[in-house]
Amino acid sequence: MFLWSTAVYGPVRSRRLGRSLGLNLLPVARKVCSYDCPYCECGWTRAGSGSGGGMPGAQELAAALEEALRRDPQVDAITLAGNGEPTLHPQLVEILDRVGQLRDRYAPAAKRVLLTNGIRLADPPLAEQVLARTEQIEIKLDAGTEQTFQQVARPTVPWSLARLTALLERLGSRVCVQCCLFGGPISNTSEADLLGMVEILKRARPRLTEIYSIDRAPAHSGLRAAPEACVQLAGMLREAGLEVFSYS
Ligand code: SF4
Repeated sequence: MFLWSTAVYGPVRSRRLGRSLGLNLLPVARKVCSYDCPYCECGWTRAGSGSGGGMPGAQELAAALEEALRRDPQVDAITLAGNGEPTLHPQLVEILDRVGQLRDRYAPAAKRVLLTNGIRLADPPLAEQVLARTEQIEIKLDAGTEQTFQQVARPTVPWSLARLTALLERLGSRVCVQCCLFGGPISNTSEADLLGMVEILKRARPRLTEIYSIDRAPAHSGLRAAPEACVQLAGMLREAGLEVFSYS
């Protein structure tokens, strides 16, 4: 299990984002998420960890970010992520405003990137506020069938692949999608899942689909990386005329 121990981390070198400074909107000692993915590097989502207790305040996050940007303004991206689902922070919009002000002052070329499972973006007014304050949003899509979705996302709130699909179709090229593929006792690499993901993405037509496999130790120790499936899915999406970035 890996948890960030600070509100700001990095910059970390990302093949696609360049030097990315991470902003952890979640508590430093515990994961808070509305999914419970078996491949999560932060471990399992524990009962009650969908609540926001212990999250750093907007002011605290801004102070930590300003200190990091003062020290090293050579960043290509400021990425909102961390120990769970960043959109669960109750001050998300205020934080994005503050990130924007600090970005403009210290690193005007840096993109604001948000990694999310997308659930809170199903609220259209909130989605519009977030879209107006970010240059890049990346939403997870890790299954092509409802049955696999419930096994690999294990949402802790009412949510389904059908609702995620509707969200991706609504947001279209305003967002990017991330697909994490893996094998083992729980897997999302069956033909039905790969074909299902292709069909969803053909309809949604995101700006870009990123495909990767597990890298750090997953919550479920039996899972393993699936680089061949990554290559296969990337080929299927390119054949469908979609923009793809594959880490395998
Ligand atoms: S959405 Fe991200 S943080 Fe949440 S359980 Fe899945 S991998 Fe972990």
